[in-house]
Amino acid sequence: MISDTIAAISTPMGEGGISVIRVSGPDAIHAVDQIFEARHKLSDALSHTVQYGHIKTKISQERIEEVLITIMRAPRSFTMEDVVEIGCHGGLVSVKQVLNELLNENVRIAEPGEFTKRAFLNGRIDLSQAEAVIDLIRAKSDRAFKIALKQVEGSLSLKIKKLRHELVSLMAHIEVNIDYPEHDVDNLTHLYIKDKSVLAIEQVNLLLKAANQGKIIREGIVTAIIGRPNVGKSSLLNTLAQENKAIVTEIAGTTRDVIEEYVTINGIPLKLLDTAGIRETSDIVEKIGVERSRVALTDADLILLMLNAAEPLQPDDYDLLEQLKDRKTIIIVNKTDLPLQIELPFLYQQVSMDRVVMLSLQQNEGVEQLEKAISALFFNGELESNDFTYVSNVRHIHLLNQANRALQDAIEAADIEVPIDIIQIDVRSAWELLGEIVGDTAGDSLIDEIFSQFCLGK
Ligand code: GDP
Ligand code: ZN
Repeated sequence: MISDTIAAISTPMGEGGISVIRVSGPDAIHAVDQIFEARHKLSDALSHTVQYGHIKTKISQERIEEVLITIMRAPRSFTMEDVVEIGCHGGLVSVKQVLNELLNENVRIAEPGEFTKRAFLNGRIDLSQAEAVIDLIRAKSDRAFKIALKQVEGSLSLKIKKLRHELVSLMAHIEVNIDYPEHDVDNLTHLYIKDKSVLAIEQVNLLLKAANQGKIIREGIVTAIIGRPNVGKSSLLNTLAQENKAIVTEIAGTTRDVIEEYVTINGIPLKLLDTAGIRETSDIVEKIGVERSRVALTDADLILLMLNAAEPLQPDDYDLLEQLKDRKTIIIVNKTDLPLQIELPFLYQQVSMDRVVMLSLQQNEGVEQLEKAISALFFNGELESNDFTYVSNVRHIHLLNQANRALQDAIEAADIEVPIDIIQIDVRSAWELLGEIVGDTAGDSLIDEIFSQFCLGK
């Protein structure tokens, strides 16, 4: 149990408009009240409100600062403890004076990273999130900041938790068959273990591959195929899905109006969305579908606009071209096996030559050019996904490698039908190793080491 109350200046030292002193712990509100002069006491204030007043010295009762104080009562705060943040206007001297006054009120100076450590110990964040806070503090570029923020929000944690959850189900399955071996008809359990371990290892490898690049696109570059009805959107989706091994087996959120397919094109994971034809409609059911396509369109990283080579451009085509002006778009002119009617020169005015791909799905011509156009966009850095997870950390890579090995052992053991209670050991080990990434099974010394990397006041 944490019983003491800590404080630190949590804004950068030096000249600045305002500085914030953060106080956290069971005594935070009471301690600040001792030196706070205002219409109401903090202890009477509601959580998540701001109080105006002055800080005075206890002995001489002299005002040293004009302040705005934010109060956040446990557990609705970053540390899950009572937190008081004192916003000071003055320079460093008076801020330090306020801090000094607090230290006479049974409050001690926080160690580096101690606020975050408390958030972790109190269950507010997990270890990978805490590490991301370090990255966040150190992030130099906007981009690095965005990546770190994503991790604070828990995208890596989510992936690991899901994976561990699947391993728990597998362990439960094995456990049942250890106790009731007669269930194990024709060694189905060994096949089952193998299947599940292969799936798990694929996930681990995905994270590892990302770790080496620094970033992973979580689900894939979100790619919307749009165009008028009947231009060949579904045919394209099917063609790409057949020729390219899907990287994710489970298809979430498949609806009648937006169909998803996961493919990899030259190593780039894509999440393909076949949207219902986008056009004005009065039919309610279809309207929902069209609405969803618009959402898909908004979220898409890349847009494949399909047109019919055998017809002149239609009003709907012009509309779409106009809408997509500022988006990453590849124009696909499909059905080139039919007599050409479309106004190609106009299209070349809209986007550069390499963004127009001539295609005949029926003759299976042009698919390779399309794939080239997509990967060119990605590899020259023009195409970025908003949907990535960042595995930044040597510790994570090490643990992922070990988890990979444990799962590999489980697969090999299942292959030669080693008794399942032995295989269970490997599965459990993978589960524990992954747990260390999010801090579920991490030892105390590791936790201390991680938090010592923080700067003061965080
Ligand atoms: P969607 O409405 O955009 O999903 O279009 P579909 O993929 O369902 O295709 C509509 C029709 O166009 C189907 O009959 C396809 O067989 C046909 N189609 C697709 N690609 C081609 C092509 O390259 N050439 C020709 N001639 N027909 C095609
Ligand atoms: Zn379709």
